[in-house]
Amino acid sequence: IPVRAAAPGETRSNCPYCGVGCGVLIEHDGARITGVRGDPAHPANFGRLCTKGATLHLTAGHDTRLLHPEYRARRGEARARVSWEAAIEVAAQRFADVIVEHGPDAVAFYISGQLLTEDYYVFNKAMKGLIGSNNVDTNSRLCMSSAVAAYKATLGADAPPCCYEDFDHADTILIAGANPAWAHPVAFRRIEEARARRPGMKIVVVDPRRTDTAAMADLHLAILPGTDVWLFDAMLHVLLDEGLADEAWIAAHTEGFEALRAHVRGVSPAVAAAVCGVAAEDIVTAARWWGEAPAALSLWCQGLNQSTHGTHNGAALIALSLATGKIGRPGCGPFSLTGQPNAMGGREVGGLANLLPAHRDLANPAHREEVARLWGVDSVPAAPGLTAVELFRAAREGRVKALWIACTNPAQSMPEQALVHEALAACEFVVLQEAFAGTETAAFADLVLPAATWGEKEGTVTNSERRISRVRAAVPAPGEARADWRIVCDFARALAPRIGKPQAAAMFAYDSAQAIFAEHVASTAGRDLDITGLDYSLLEREGPQQWPFPAGARVEEVGARARLYADGRFATPNGRARFVVPWRTLTAEATGVRYPLALTSGRLRDHWHGMSRSGKVARLYGHADEARIELHPRELAGRGLVDGDLVRVSSRHGALVLRVAASDALRPGMAFVGMHWGRRVLNSAGINLLFGGACDPLSKQPELKHAAVRIEPVALP
Ligand code: SF4
Repeated sequence: IPVRAAAPGETRSNCPYCGVGCGVLIEHDGARITGVRGDPAHPANFGRLCTKGATLHLTAGHDTRLLHPEYRARRGEARARVSWEAAIEVAAQRFADVIVEHGPDAVAFYISGQLLTEDYYVFNKAMKGLIGSNNVDTNSRLCMSSAVAAYKATLGADAPPCCYEDFDHADTILIAGANPAWAHPVAFRRIEEARARRPGMKIVVVDPRRTDTAAMADLHLAILPGTDVWLFDAMLHVLLDEGLADEAWIAAHTEGFEALRAHVRGVSPAVAAAVCGVAAEDIVTAARWWGEAPAALSLWCQGLNQSTHGTHNGAALIALSLATGKIGRPGCGPFSLTGQPNAMGGREVGGLANLLPAHRDLANPAHREEVARLWGVDSVPAAPGLTAVELFRAAREGRVKALWIACTNPAQSMPEQALVHEALAACEFVVLQEAFAGTETAAFADLVLPAATWGEKEGTVTNSERRISRVRAAVPAPGEARADWRIVCDFARALAPRIGKPQAAAMFAYDSAQAIFAEHVASTAGRDLDITGLDYSLLEREGPQQWPFPAGARVEEVGARARLYADGRFATPNGRARFVVPWRTLTAEATGVRYPLALTSGRLRDHWHGMSRSGKVARLYGHADEARIELHPRELAGRGLVDGDLVRVSSRHGALVLRVAASDALRPGMAFVGMHWGRRVLNSAGINLLFGGACDPLSKQPELKHAAVRIEPVALP
C-alpha cells in the first residue's frame, strides 16, 4: 500500500504499547486528540489495531497528566510547583553535588523501553559521555535482555533475523514462552490468517498454561516451569536420531556443534518428558514437525527470557534453527517478540549498562574509543554499569545516591519490591520524569518533571522486525510538559559546568529530535545495524524501513533487508554461528512444604504494564476487572475455597490479598496472576511484590516468571 500523506486532521504515528509496532493515524482538531485508527500503509499492521491500540485516544485526556515541575527540598514535605528553569537548576546542582563528592558512579538513570530512540540516545550520552559512568539501565532489562544475550552468543549480534512476513511462509511455527494472542494481538492475527490459508501448517505452543495461543495450537506442550532447555535439547536429540538435522549446513556455517551433540545424546524424549511433565510422544511430534517442515519459525518472549537461565533458554531454541539450517530464508529462523514499543531502539543506541551505541560492546576497548571519538570526549568508562536489579540494590546500600527515573514505574514493576521501596527512600535525591500523575514511584520523587507522551512528541521507534517508524506529534503537550529528549539536554547542559566540564555542554546543543537521530545514524556506519541511508525525510517519504539500511540502499530492495544471514554468514568474527551448550538448571526458587505453588505471571489481553495508560480506559476493564489469582479447581477444592474467595498469597518476598479464580488452563500445583495490577486496584504496590530478584548471570534479567507461593483463606470481618 503506497504511503500517502495523512488526511487533514490526521497525523501518522505509531502505537506506544507493544513491540508489534502498529502504525496509527491520530485524529485530532489541532488541540485535542479525538480518535485513532490503524494506518493501512504501515507494514506491521496494514490498518489493524487491537483493543489497546484502538482505544488510545481515550488515554489522551489531561485529567491524570503531570502538568508542571514539582519539587520538595526535604523528605516528608509536599512537593510544590516550580518553574522549569528552577527545576533544571536544582536537578543539575543536586546531581553535581553527589558526583563531585562521591564520584560519577554514585548517580544513575533508570529509563524505559517506552522512550523514543532519540530520548534514549541522549540519556545514554549524558551518563556515559558527560557524567562518566555507565549507570544507565532500563526496564527493557526486565523483558528482553536474555534474548539479546542469546542472539549475541549464537548469531554474533543482537539482531532478530526474521520479519512478520515469515508468518505467511512458515510450515511450522514453534511459539515458546509467549502468548501473542494477548500480548501481540495484531501479529497473532496474521499467524491465524496464515494458518487459515495453509491448512497443513502446524503450530506448536510451549507454555505451562493453556493460553489463548495454546488453545489454537495443533500441539500444546504444557511443560513445568523452568524446564524449557530440557525440551529443546530433547527435540534436538530427536532431530539427530531421525536424520532431520542438516549436517552439511552445520559443517559449512556453524561451530561448536559436536559439544552440543554430545550434550543432548542423553536427553531422550523419555528423559525430558519426566523432567518437563509432558508426554514423550509429544516431544517427538514437535521435533518431527520442526525437522520435516520445509520452513520452520520459532517465536519467543518473556516465558523464556524472564528466567535465571533465560539466555540459555534462547540459545537452546536458536540451536533448533541452526541444526536444521532453517534461518535466513522465508518462513525460517528464531524470532524474539519484543515486549515494549522501543526496546529495540534502546538497544540500538546502547541505552543499557553494558552496551554502547550502534550495538557496540562496553567491554571492547576499541568500541569505547570509537564512541569517545564520536562524542568528542576523552574516554568512555570501562567499568560496567549497574543493571536494573543491581542498581536498586546499590541504592539501598547507599552506593547510588541520586537516581533519575524516566517513563517507568519501578516501585510497582520491579521484583523484590520491598527492597526497591527502601532503595528509593534511601536515595538522597530522586527525579521522576513522567507523563502520568499518581504512579507508585511518584511518592518517592523529590523532583517531578512533566513529560510529553504519545501524540505529543517527535522521534522514532524500532519494532520487533527491526523496522524503524516515525512517531509524530499531533497536538501540543498539555501544561508545561516537554519532550523527554529536551528535558535531558537541558539538564546535561546545566550539569556540564557544575562537574568541571563546561565545554561538554555543546554535546547537547540539539534543536530537534531530528538532529539527534542524525547523530545516531552517523554512529551506525559500518556496524551490523548500519542505517546511514536513513533520515527523517526518507521515512516521511517512503514510510517505515527495516535495518540495515546503509547509504546507497534502495527502498525497493525490501526483500534484501527483510531477513538477515541469507548468505549463511553470521555476525561472529569468523562468520560462523555458534552452538551453545545450555545449562539445565531449573527455577531459582523451589516449591516445597511452605510454598507449594508455582506462581507465574503474564500480560492480560487488554492491559499494558502498570496500567498508567491503559488503566484510564473503562472499557479495557471489561475483560478483567480486578486482580485474581488463578488456580486449578482441585487446588481450590483441596483448600475449601470457591471461585471468588479472598486469599492471602505469600511468597518469600511479600504477601498480598487477592480473589481466587478457578481455571483449568493451569495444572494443579501452579498459579497465575496478571502482571499489571498495582496500588490503585490492589492496595499494595503491585503483583511483583511476590517475585524475587534472582537474575540470569549472563543477561542480568530477573526471573519474573516464577515464584514459589502459598495461599491461605482470608476471613471477612
Ligand atoms: Fe498496539 Fe501492539 Fe495492539 Fe499493535 S498489537 S495496536 S502495537 S498494542
